[in-house]
Amino acid sequence: MNGKTFFEFCMSIRQRHVEDAVHGVITELDENAVRSSIKFVDYKVDETSDHPVTATLQLKDGQLAHVRCKYLVGADGGRSTVRALSSIPFPGVSSPHKWVRLDAIVKSDLPVQRGPGVGVESDAHGNVLWVPTDNGRTRIGFVLKDELYGVDGSSVTAETVMEEARKALLPNSLEFVQLDWWTVYAIGQRVAEQFRKGRVILAGDAAHTHSSGAAQGMNTGIHDATNLAWKLAGVVKGWYKEEVLDVYGSERRASAQYLIELDKDVASLISGKIPERFNAPPDADVNEYLYGVFEASAGFGVGLEVSYPENLLNKTYPGDELSSTVQVGHRGPDAALFRPGARFPRRLQELVASSGRRFSILVFAGEVHSVDGFPTLPEARAAKYAELRQYVDSAESFARTLADVFQFVTVVRGEGVMQPAEAIGVPPLGKMAYDHTGDAYDKYGVRTGEGALVVLRPDGIAGFAAPLALDGIRAVGLYFEGFVEPRTISQGAPLWKVGSAVGEVSVEGQEEHTV
Ligand SMILES: Cc1cc2nc3c(=O)[nH]c(=O)nc-3n(C[C@H](O)[C@H](O)[C@H](O)COP(=O)(O)OP(=O)(O)OC[C@H]3O[C@@H](n4cnc5c(N)ncnc54)[C@H](O)[C@@H]3O)c2cc1C
Repeated sequence: MNGKTFFEFCMSIRQRHVEDAVHGVITELDENAVRSSIKFVDYKVDETSDHPVTATLQLKDGQLAHVRCKYLVGADGGRSTVRALSSIPFPGVSSPHKWVRLDAIVKSDLPVQRGPGVGVESDAHGNVLWVPTDNGRTRIGFVLKDELYGVDGSSVTAETVMEEARKALLPNSLEFVQLDWWTVYAIGQRVAEQFRKGRVILAGDAAHTHSSGAAQGMNTGIHDATNLAWKLAGVVKGWYKEEVLDVYGSERRASAQYLIELDKDVASLISGKIPERFNAPPDADVNEYLYGVFEASAGFGVGLEVSYPENLLNKTYPGDELSSTVQVGHRGPDAALFRPGARFPRRLQELVASSGRRFSILVFAGEVHSVDGFPTLPEARAAKYAELRQYVDSAESFARTLADVFQFVTVVRGEGVMQPAEAIGVPPLGKMAYDHTGDAYDKYGVRTGEGALVVLRPDGIAGFAAPLALDGIRAVGLYFEGFVEPRTISQGAPLWKVGSAVGEVSVEGQEEHTV
């Protein structure tokens, strides 16, 4: 993971535990949010209404209920009713291979048992998946022979899959202590033609299905949700222009298409066939190709290198000056930073977290030098910073004219004590953090003698970068004007008040914010 994340490990957790964790958090926020045994059956749209969508639901007792809303998100799985009712085509192919997946407590003499996942070569069963997961369970996966599958798989039993698993792992032994779950399935590789059609938005398996070979189904659905949630909330709240929802569609559809292409290779290689596009020699080792594909796509697989092209939300600075080497459309790197006077570092990703509401403007103010024992910005850069601060406080600033969706974090290279305003010369924009080791400056490719402005979207993707200068912050304003709605009176006072004191609220268990 090459320093792209704060964590030092990679762990496979079964989907049911991820679902339980997500369910727990949603229930904490609203205990009625998740309801079962309610079936969505139909919807209609009336654009003249404030809440144009009326969804029809069938309750447990068969009664129909109607819910009115602004948008309808179809996250209802591969056989999505929402997708079908919206006449959104779902083109693709079905692979002829049938795969088995099982979770069990097992005993085996395989040399690698509880380490990272491995692939075991088997002539009859393709590349056998062996992934130690949580609570002493192991996930085992392999290709099921056509004759055992029969016409529709109805003759396959738990005994069949355990017996085939034992054969697949020969000459190593395999003993089942407890079989928790198993499934046999055919692979369909499909992507919906549109992820957004008017008031309807598709996410998860409703929008894309593929094999479990790259273990990306749920992961990709979670990326859909992370990409969509803040955009949809922002449009519904009146903060963003509606085009932002089209960006969801284009970003996530391109990502799903990339995954399908990857999945075609992985599914074919796991089933023992090298895809033609590799032009492999007749005696080529299929497993070498499989590992090559996994290695090349590892960053995408763990989610850290999921990236998006240039669009309304990911824009390159129009000037010639390259102030940061961070790539727009890619995840903003994490880094260890110190709050003023702190002994322990905080994660940059933690400092910019905002419950998905705010874009973070990282103000890389450059390096401080010691003057009379105090860390101080050199005069020229301090003047630039003061100019920025003045612009942000002024009536023309986007932070005052546009909807309240911004937060600033000032990142200074060097070490400092309690007086950020003294180090910078003016009260800092937003929270202030010191980069003791140059970690953030290195990862964002910012010169310590120049500084830079880097915008991170609420989902952590870098959206824009500009020089630390008045032109730079004005360019940031133009970038936001492309998709943020003007501030309305009902949205209340702006975050930035001219000449007012800047405070920080940092109470354990609550979101940190600047006032
Ligand atoms: C064997 C196997 C192994 C897998 N392994 C992995 C893995 O290792 N990693 C990974 O990331 N993914 C994996 N996946 C894929 C993953 O399970 C799916 O991609 C994921 O569950 C999709 O989530 P979803 O919420 O979009 O759809 P679903 O999980 O299908 O959920 C849709 C929900 O909508 C409900 N629903 C459907 N229609 C209606 C309706 N009309 N009204 C009301 N409710 C409705 C359903 O009851 C269901 O609860 C695997 C899948 C399989 C089959």
